[in-house]
Amino acid sequence: MTTMLESYAAVTGADVIRHLQQLAEILKDKTVVHVNSTRVGGGVAEILDKMVPLSQELGINTRWEVITGDSEFYQCTKSMHNAIQGNRVTIPDSLLNHFQEVNEQNANQLRSILEEADFVFIHDPQPAALLKYCSRRKGKWIWRCHIDASHPHRATWRFIDSFVRDYDASIFSLPQYVQVFPHPSYIIPPSIDPLSDKNIDLTQDELDSVRIRFGINSEAPMIAQISRFDRFKDPVGVIEAYKLAKCYIPTLQLVMAGGRADDDPEGEAVLKEVYLAAGDDPNIKVLLLPPDAHRTINALQRLADIVVQKSTKEGFGLTVTEGLWKGKPVIGGDTGGIRLQVINFHTGFLVNTPEGAALRIRYLMSQKQKMQEMGLKGKEFVRENFLLTRQLREHLTLMVSLQYGGIDRIELS
Ligand code: UDP
Repeated sequence: MTTMLESYAAVTGADVIRHLQQLAEILKDKTVVHVNSTRVGGGVAEILDKMVPLSQELGINTRWEVITGDSEFYQCTKSMHNAIQGNRVTIPDSLLNHFQEVNEQNANQLRSILEEADFVFIHDPQPAALLKYCSRRKGKWIWRCHIDASHPHRATWRFIDSFVRDYDASIFSLPQYVQVFPHPSYIIPPSIDPLSDKNIDLTQDELDSVRIRFGINSEAPMIAQISRFDRFKDPVGVIEAYKLAKCYIPTLQLVMAGGRADDDPEGEAVLKEVYLAAGDDPNIKVLLLPPDAHRTINALQRLADIVVQKSTKEGFGLTVTEGLWKGKPVIGGDTGGIRLQVINFHTGFLVNTPEGAALRIRYLMSQKQKMQEMGLKGKEFVRENFLLTRQLREHLTLMVSLQYGGIDRIELS
């Protein structure tokens, strides 16, 4: 076992790594390409940044390509994202045509890599039309939908379906997101990397330096939401919840940390709404962090007593997994992938309103013992279910089944 694999084994147990090696052995002469639309910002980039090196370490020839587009393209794909999550958005034909043109331009750049690969994982709607322009593809193409697609706006979905139906398989994070395609769909929830800067243990000195840098008072309770400034993450609702809870916990502090994602054009407008709602309250820290501030985010999640993710729609919510892994109870919106992770009264609380969130903040802040118990449960829950090794195992299994599905028996060495 290499040093990297030994480090994972120390967290997950050696049998988990041996299983990955057995699956990788069957795939070792294959090439795998992942394609998405941003190298930094948001959950997909976060996952690929870790999954690609681990796959390579297991001996699978894996690469990660990022498509590029102009602001019109991202305006279109952001509308698609919102429409898949249920907003009634009508996207003009001119933008939909532009979406296809940008996919064609990117296909022209990437064609040989994509057509030659044995497996191509296309993440989310942005690059979904690449397949249309790679007609001589050799391998299996998999569309990976990270979004809550349970109730998509129909016209937009028909447009996306016209590209995705030609894939060999699709992956959704939850069973209720699955849409019918002429190919099989698989359920694979996302994961976090326990060895990344975002999630490794930090020293008390490092925690203290982050606390001092942002003027956080170690004597006062603190809640934190770490998220892109996106309306579905309901940042203004978090501030409302904080204000309600503050009536009972006057020293309460709130950290709202976010950054910019290259493919999210709405962030600036939402950030303005956040500043307006926060007003001049010195106990609300709105932090705009650079894309590589992983250790800072790690520290903020560890400094918080409670991690909040009050989304109204959430495909999965890696920030929830990250909070649980740090032994924190999570107060999360009762939606999508948060429901898979926040087990009410066990790993945290599911809420539907700022009032509900405030009530749970008050309850937990007065029950330190309960907070600790929930934190311990949450961490073990993540170890069992939401670490990178589990997600990679499921990807490898999917590739093996697509490649060798016709064979009755596959021997693992
Ligand atoms: N994140 C980050 N910087 C930020 C905001 C978020 O690094 O300013 C990370 C966060 O820690 C998490 C990911 O981006 O790993 C967000 O994933 P999630 O599934 O929670 O939401 P998404 O942005 O994909 O909707």
